[in-house]
Amino acid sequence: MPHQFDFLVIGSGIAGLSYATKLAMHFENLQQESNAAPVRIGVITKVQADETNTKYAQGGIAAVWSEDDSFEKHIDDTMIAGDFLNDRHIVEIVVNEGPGRIRELIDYGTRFDKEHDGDSYDLAKEGGHSDFRILHFKDITGAEIERALLEKAHSLKSIEIFTHFYAVELITRHQLGDTVHRYDTDNKCYGAFVLNTQTGQVEQFLAKTTLLATGGIGNIYQNTTNPNIATGDGIAMAYRAKGIGKDMEFIQFHPTALYEPGKKPNFLISEAVRGFGGVLRNKKGETFMENYDPRLSLAPRDIVARAIDSEMKKAGDSHVYLDVTHCDYEKFVEHFPNITAYCFDHLGLDLRKDYIPVVPAQHYLCGGIRVNEWGQTNIQFLYAVGECSCTGLHGANRLASNSLLEAVVFGHRAYQKTVELFDQAVVPDNLPTWNDAGTTHPEELVLVTEMKKELESIMSNYVGIVRTNRRLKRAMDRLELIYLEHEELYRQSKVSVPICELRNMIEVAYLVIKMAMARRENRGLHFNLDNVQPPLAD
Ligand code: FAD
Repeated sequence: MPHQFDFLVIGSGIAGLSYATKLAMHFENLQQESNAAPVRIGVITKVQADETNTKYAQGGIAAVWSEDDSFEKHIDDTMIAGDFLNDRHIVEIVVNEGPGRIRELIDYGTRFDKEHDGDSYDLAKEGGHSDFRILHFKDITGAEIERALLEKAHSLKSIEIFTHFYAVELITRHQLGDTVHRYDTDNKCYGAFVLNTQTGQVEQFLAKTTLLATGGIGNIYQNTTNPNIATGDGIAMAYRAKGIGKDMEFIQFHPTALYEPGKKPNFLISEAVRGFGGVLRNKKGETFMENYDPRLSLAPRDIVARAIDSEMKKAGDSHVYLDVTHCDYEKFVEHFPNITAYCFDHLGLDLRKDYIPVVPAQHYLCGGIRVNEWGQTNIQFLYAVGECSCTGLHGANRLASNSLLEAVVFGHRAYQKTVELFDQAVVPDNLPTWNDAGTTHPEELVLVTEMKKELESIMSNYVGIVRTNRRLKRAMDRLELIYLEHEELYRQSKVSVPICELRNMIEVAYLVIKMAMARRENRGLHFNLDNVQPPLAD
């Protein structure tokens, strides 16, 4: 028997939960006021509900909050960071609507740090922001938002959360045997095929409206700050269903993640450590930033990441070092208790005498599934919100702390449009069930593990921070081989999470490489040594 919902939400991070809670409150109020019929909102999440990128967000959420600040300044900062490839209309929407959405998070019980007076919020300032506008809760802002949203969701009776349910494929007009092309406007979504990971069965989750809120893609790289769930599932599912990908070449790398071979995700060594006096050194112990930027280790994030990448590539090294041995240790520990403890507990480092091994790590995807100002994809009744979507807010580079903001603003906008179109959504009753006739459980999952390692290596070595035409071509050629090998395995196998995740990662890697090859200019996060810069005017 299929599961029948009014709304299916795939993902339980800030994007999925903002949308689901809004919908639930709206319809539960309607029910109380006018005896309207109850609705069913299914939220599925591939592991436990709070294991999301959201939970790991540290710095905070940006919004114009103090009287000295202004919407214009936040808009300008966002446009400058995005190298003016942003959609200004979207930037204005997100910045203007942001404070209202954050007030709602506070109403749900989210705590943000306050000043000593206990009234005003303690606003932080981060790289690229011209004013103090980052609301935060210690250095675990994301975990606090996730906690509050989950509590809110659990309190609403129309929301059912399915943990350990893995969305495999969207159900669209293709399943009715119709041929639909990518730019057709009459494709429709009716829910998803979902793997119940406890039983191994693929079940139909039918819904009048579906939201993709599946987060990022970090695991296509060897080093990433993203948790294991970030495998680009939503983007790949949407693309296979003839959704449109956009800006996938713009991938943000954090310059200094802790280097722990084989460990994923990489622990983040905050940029504030360089602000505190930390100095970058190569494996020989030599400083090198003087060869790249006069601001040395305090240069902007993308410049530092490129410099580290270049040093590593020149020397064939796997990492560089961050040296804080000259810093006042007492003060360092006071500022960075977490980092000090983590380095000692995991690598036995005494930061009074040991350097911290660091490596750039994939951190955030600016692109994703193309959506409009209401979070609608090109497929009717399919929305995408959060890191898996591309609204046009970030352009070629994301301004720090704008991603949580985007998710909460678009969660609300998608909810508004969903309510408006609710009466038009219909699920046909002749949709086929999952057909896995002729497939078997694969005998050797080692093939999947090895293909995944190859994929990570291709993406890290050829499609990382610094690209060249030759590296991109090589990446595409190698990926093609993995794709063919994996498709054969996929067709013969009963679906499992590792097989599906790899399939999605291959799909997403393809989009990143394809869009990186197509971009003939260096903008924001995309840097190709072969891109000829326009000659300077006399
Ligand atoms: P997520 O929070 O990642 O949620 C994705 C959900 O989708 C999960 O529930 C997952 O289980 C589910 N899912 C995925 N695939 C499937 C599937 N196939 N089937 C079922 N469920 C699925 N941003 C800021 O604005 N400020 C910060 O300070 C900040 N710091 C960060 C620090 C770190 C270490 C990281 C990793 C990110 C940081 N970010 C920050 C970015 C921000 O956290 C993310 O962009 C944002 O949380 C993404 O939210 P989301 O709801 O789109 O996705």
